[in-house]
Amino acid sequence: MNLTDLSASLRDCERCRLSSGRTQVVFGIGNPQASIMFVGEAPGFYEDRQGEPFVGAAGKLLTELLQSIGLTRSDIYIANVIKCRPPNNRDPLPDEIETCKPFLLQQIEFIRPKLVCTLGNFATQTLLEKKVGITKVRGQVIRMPQFLVFPLLHPAAALHQGNLRGPLLEDFKKLKLVLDGMDKESQKSPTQKSQAIPQPLAESKKDTPAETPVQMDLF
Ligand code: SF4
Repeated sequence: MNLTDLSASLRDCERCRLSSGRTQVVFGIGNPQASIMFVGEAPGFYEDRQGEPFVGAAGKLLTELLQSIGLTRSDIYIANVIKCRPPNNRDPLPDEIETCKPFLLQQIEFIRPKLVCTLGNFATQTLLEKKVGITKVRGQVIRMPQFLVFPLLHPAAALHQGNLRGPLLEDFKKLKLVLDGMDKESQKSPTQKSQAIPQPLAESKKDTPAETPVQMDLF
């Protein structure tokens, strides 16, 4: 199986109740060989209609933020934790997350990005497997067993709360430093390579269990 097969296999997915209200499954889009992947929450109204993640106002802001660090959407891959739009854009429920999350993990496995940028609390908590606040962990590289996570504020949060735009811009500047550091590291010979991960780094405390699943907020 590859990414295309996985996408095709989900086209008629009815594994959870969200299948009943969607227009289409929003699998993900972008460069399947991307070294950086962005993960959001779930499709909204426009995403559900167009079949692509991040096509509304938050998507426009994400595109601008990428451009601010010299990236375009064709450099990255974007997906959501949940592939079908929840009714009235409500938060996905814990059982819906559990059902759909394996497909996100498979996407990550096929794309093999160097860094997975989680947008907002929801994606961050899902991939870190614990209930952490985005404001506590944003702008740090967090090592998970299979990949590195870089949590960012959700662009929709910055649209709703103008005072978050500055912090979001700061996070993208940090992301640029992290990516530059990774590029330099990858250019070194194997003997020059250290085990160091570009700063800022935070180790994921795997011994801190996730709390009982609860509905998670975007902000
Ligand atoms: S949200 Fe995920 S698990 Fe639920 S129907 Fe859509 S693709 Fe299937």
